[in-house]
Amino acid sequence: MIVDSNLSFDEAIAGTDAPLDVIGKLCLVEVCYWSFDGKMHQGQLVVQKELRQDLSDIFTLIQNTGFKVAQAIPLVKYGWSDDLSMANNNSSAFNYRFVAGTRRLSLHAAGRAVDINPYQNPVIYKDGGSAPPGASYNPAADGTLQEGSPVVQLFKSRGWRWGGDFESVRDYHHFEKTPLDASTIPKAPQRLLK
Ligand SMILES: [Zn+2]
Repeated sequence: MIVDSNLSFDEAIAGTDAPLDVIGKLCLVEVCYWSFDGKMHQGQLVVQKELRQDLSDIFTLIQNTGFKVAQAIPLVKYGWSDDLSMANNNSSAFNYRFVAGTRRLSLHAAGRAVDINPYQNPVIYKDGGSAPPGASYNPAADGTLQEGSPVVQLFKSRGWRWGGDFESVRDYHHFEKTPLDASTIPKAPQRLLK
């Protein structure tokens, strides 16, 4: 077993901009997966506590089906930079940040969104551009998510939305679960909007 990440909870949230009420709802989930080197790896995801079971079950499926995951390392290791994490094909969840190009907090900011293998599952913009740089979407490649994938189906059966279904921007690596009470979605504090 190759250990990709073995942080304590405090280490995994160090330096985040998130307020304490957001941090208090988070937990660290250990996940195991076959990586592209053919070896079993252990990584970690920071997610909201009530989603722990969903993620455990989804990664059990990922492990049992041999779906390849490059690595899963909390964003603290990338200085909270989504760009650096994506460029490293990192799978991750919590990151207290805006939706790219907006001043609206992402569901990643609540630990309610998960990204898997950004390199195999890039964002494709309307103008044809994509991120991370150099990535292209080839549904036949290992570690790629598509409509019929067991991983996509299990996420959806648990009430998650898949970014591959988004109309505006195809966000193939992204899954998110909106809380039943939308008023619990954190709003950006003024200090970050200035
Ligand atoms: Zn995402």
